Amino acid sequence: MHDLTAIVADITEEMQAAPDRGRPADYIPALARADVSQFGMAIVTADGSVHTGGSADEPFSLQSVTKVFALTQALGRVGDQLWDRVGREPSGSAFNSIVQLESEQGIPRNPFINAGAIVVSDVNLARGAPRAALAELVNFVRYLADDDTIAVDTEVAASELETGFRNVALANYMKSFGNLRRSPEEVLDLYFGQCAIAMSCRQLAMAGRYLMAAGLNPTNGHRVVSEARARRINALMLTCGHYDASGDFAFRVGLPGKSGVGGGILAVAPGRASISVWSPGLNAQGNSQLGTLALERLATRTGWSVFARGAVADS
Ligand code: GLU
Repeated sequence: MHDLTAIVADITEEMQAAPDRGRPADYIPALARADVSQFGMAIVTADGSVHTGGSADEPFSLQSVTKVFALTQALGRVGDQLWDRVGREPSGSAFNSIVQLESEQGIPRNPFINAGAIVVSDVNLARGAPRAALAELVNFVRYLADDDTIAVDTEVAASELETGFRNVALANYMKSFGNLRRSPEEVLDLYFGQCAIAMSCRQLAMAGRYLMAAGLNPTNGHRVVSEARARRINALMLTCGHYDASGDFAFRVGLPGKSGVGGGILAVAPGRASISVWSPGLNAQGNSQLGTLALERLATRTGWSVFARGAVADS
């Protein structure tokens, strides 16, 4: 059995003192002000114990980490039909890239790059209003995290609406290929609101538990998704969860993970733990510099990599 309390304390101490902290996302003005000295971490294990370090209760902008929850919702809505409109391959391109969309007829490579998540928003919008669809997503993450205080940071949502020109371009481009049912404005209204959901590391690790627990919500034992769907979402997180650094994340950490430009990462050690880290300084690919390093340290100390021999044995 690992001493997770000591491991989290050691990693937190190292990260708090780390000299190379990356830079906050500056293309969203409300995120540019983030304090790079912040670091937080939370681990919720399969038996329900919670281990936290640093600013684990400080809410931060979830950004692309929400793509995991929105995908889960969209799969619940339309099932495998989603894959007619979104691929399941790593893109090897930046999170906001438009280049592949032209040669691939407006079908994004995967649901975890911006273009793919915008199609997922279109699916989740269905026939409803953006505000209602956003409320549904917020309720879903509250249910997963067992925490009704989770909310959207409206200042961040407004900031993205003002400056999200690339996402506007992606949505319009896909609309021209017929891959959006609703108007780009309505779809982006939901997408920007979704990205602006704020959570703390503790809340995020709680919300991710169904992915470590074979699709069950450990709070009440209810099924969130089938075991097969949880496995597939984890596979997509592993292969596509870190944009054009997904291979590097698999190499260094070896766990399904999804990052966001707010500096948060949700990682899953199947059968063992749901893990969340946050530090707003990003590396060149837009992933949390210290969040990635912290998860690398955790995987090394625990052997929790899905590629490790110990991965199937009990820790
Ligand atoms: N809201 C951000 C955007 O669309 C999300 C990007 C991210 O976290 O990767 O640009």
